[in-house]
Amino acid sequence: MKGICILGATGSIGVSTLDVVSRHPDKYEIIALTANTNVEVLYQQCLTYLPKFAVMVDEEKALFLEQKLADAKITHISVLSGMAALETVASLEEVDSVMAAIVGAAGLLPSLAAAKAGKTVLLANKEALVMSGDIFMQAITESGATLLPIDSEHNAIFQCMPANYKTGETAKQARRILLTASGGPFRETPLEQLVDVTPEQAIAHPKWNMGRKISVDSATMMNKGLELIEACLLFNMPSDAIQVVIHKQSIIHSMVDYVDGSVLAQMGNPDMRTPIAHAMAYPERFDSGVAPLDIFEVAQMDFEKPNLQRFPCLRLAQEAINTGGIMPTVLNAANEIAVEAFLNETVKFTDIAMIIEQTMAQFTANQANSLEIVLVTDTKARETAVKIINGLNH
Ligand code: NAD
Ligand code: MG
Repeated sequence: MKGICILGATGSIGVSTLDVVSRHPDKYEIIALTANTNVEVLYQQCLTYLPKFAVMVDEEKALFLEQKLADAKITHISVLSGMAALETVASLEEVDSVMAAIVGAAGLLPSLAAAKAGKTVLLANKEALVMSGDIFMQAITESGATLLPIDSEHNAIFQCMPANYKTGETAKQARRILLTASGGPFRETPLEQLVDVTPEQAIAHPKWNMGRKISVDSATMMNKGLELIEACLLFNMPSDAIQVVIHKQSIIHSMVDYVDGSVLAQMGNPDMRTPIAHAMAYPERFDSGVAPLDIFEVAQMDFEKPNLQRFPCLRLAQEAINTGGIMPTVLNAANEIAVEAFLNETVKFTDIAMIIEQTMAQFTANQANSLEIVLVTDTKARETAVKIINGLNH
């Protein structure tokens, strides 16, 4: 039995992970579940999965959870609160695997704690990797941790890598990565209509059912931009060896092009339980609950180049990785602020890229050689983005 800690258990990835875990009660024991504020869902998960630890970041809600569990006569679950508790449960001795599924920069320190503690890190939280880059990858190498990608594209690429390949290495015979993208809900929307897009429309993804933030990122294609940076780090490849391909059917989840002309692809129905089950069972495989792919129903697959005029966020991410240093940290922080403001209807959809671009313009490409620099840059970039937004609304 392996012990698992799920950071962000109440989110889209967290819930899918629990679905996979529940199919294999003989293989995984749930040690810890964490959530930010969603006490109702975490309470239900505690009743069903009986973890040893439950973390509610919000202190008041943690007290409420403790009371509810006591009322239900469940006394053996330790309820913890606060951000530091996330790091504690991610590093527990009895935890073998940590599903890093918190959204955004909030997931950095707990994911890094898992990496430093030498755990098998199942990484969904791409923002943590994008903002900390080499620091994260170094923590993995130094502790001897195993890093397995959950993002469907990166999991697909990993599956197409040579036998015994480890993330962070360069696969010498792999000359190119083809990173697929669905193109999101606005792939064909007339450009002049993008300014009027509502949060509701942006969140309605045609192929994947995901949390709000990543859904907006998919609509702007910043998600693919973050994934481009994620791929550079995970597979140790330069950005110009990674081609983004719009593939609207989302059946091929990415491809690796080898020097002999072979192009390997991983395919399947768009359901995150496949990459989750792959990483959980690795190097074996087990059932994920995902329906078999009906290739005749798919019938046709299309591929096109992304239009950077339609998707300026993808261009900004390319610029950030090519500039390097702290720029990916700045990009990520500005994006988080801009997306939040869009979801709160403070700014327009088309303002998102503009806010990020203006934020990036105020930073120079200093090196990101310590965690402290990363955290300070993240804070400063957020403040800069907020100022730009305030300027827009006066
Ligand atoms: P979500 O919004 O559905 O869930 C987020 C989880 O993080 C929740 O459990 C929430 O309680 C927790 N959380 C949020 N803010 C927090 C904070 N400040 N402190 C502690 N915990 C906090 O998000 P999601 O769609 O499950 O995505 C999670 C991560 O996985 C993201 O980084 C996303 O990019 C990545 N990812 C998601 C999908 C998908 O299909 N949903 C696919 C690929 C990658
Ligand atoms: Mg993805």
